[in-house]
Amino acid sequence: MKFAKKSLGQNFLIDNNIKKKIIKCANFKNRNVIEIGPGNGSLTDEIIKNKPKKLILIEKDFHLVKLLKQKYFTKKFIKIYNADILKFNIEKIERKNSIIVGNLPYNISSQILVKIIKFRKWPPKFSDLIFMFQKELGEKILSKYPSSNYGRLSILTNYRLNLIKDFQVSRNCFFPRPKVISQVIHFQPKKNEMFKIKNLNNLEKVTNILFSNKRKMINKNLKKLLHIDEINKIEHLNLNLRPSDLKPDYYYKITELYEKR
Ligand code: SAH
Repeated sequence: MKFAKKSLGQNFLIDNNIKKKIIKCANFKNRNVIEIGPGNGSLTDEIIKNKPKKLILIEKDFHLVKLLKQKYFTKKFIKIYNADILKFNIEKIERKNSIIVGNLPYNISSQILVKIIKFRKWPPKFSDLIFMFQKELGEKILSKYPSSNYGRLSILTNYRLNLIKDFQVSRNCFFPRPKVISQVIHFQPKKNEMFKIKNLNNLEKVTNILFSNKRKMINKNLKKLLHIDEINKIEHLNLNLRPSDLKPDYYYKITELYEKR
C-alpha cells in the first residue's frame, strides 16, 4: 500500500496478532458481519477465517473496492459496496444478531459512532460493535463522570452502549504509521429502561447547548431548553453547576422533559 490516502484516513493494519485479538472479541462463526472501511482486506481476511455467514464490506475508495472485488470474487457470501459510510443506510442492511466492525478512518470515526448510536430502532439488530479509534477519542467515548474527558460523546454513548472490552494498539501495528496510539473498543447495545428518549437528536441537542460553554454554569443555557417550572421538577438539580459536573442521568432527564414540551 504505497499510496495510502491521508484524506481517507488510510492506516492499514499489518500486525497479525492485533487482527486476531480484534476478531476474538466476538464469535464471528455463522454471524452476519458488516465491516466499515475494509481497505485492502487485512482485517477482512481474519474475519473470513472465522467463517461468518454473510459479510458486507463498505468502502469509499473506488480503487480499493476494485481490489477487494478481485480478491474475493469467488466468495459468494461477501457483498461489497462502494459507498461513503456517512451517507449509507446501515440500518437497512443490518440483519439480526450481526456484528459491526471496523478499523475506522480517524477523521470521521466519531461521526460514524454517533450515526450508529442514533439508529431509529433500539435495541438495534446488531449485537456487537467493535471499532478501532484513536486513543484520545476512545478516552472521550469511555470517560466516566466525573473526569476531565467527560462530555457530550460519553453521555451519548453511555445512553445506548455497554462497554465490553477495550485495549490499546501501538502505532507500529499500522502502515503508514499513525501519529498516535489507537484503541479498540467492543460495545454491546444497552436497553435503557430508566429513561425513554424518543429521538436521540434531542439528546444531542441538549448536550450541545449545555456544553456550548464548558465553564459557564448551566443556569442560562438550560433556560433555552426548558421553562423554569419544568426545571424545578428536576430533583436535586443545582443550577450553579458547570456542564461537566452533571451526571449523565440529568442529561437524559432534561431530554425527556424537552421532548414533552
Ligand atoms: N480496515 C483496513 C483499513 C483501515 S483504514 C485495515 O485495517 O487495514 C480506513 C479505511 O476506511 C480505508 O480503507 C478508507 O479508504 C476507508 N474510508 C475512509 N472514509 C470512508 C468513508 N466515508 N466510508 C467508507 N469507508 C471509508
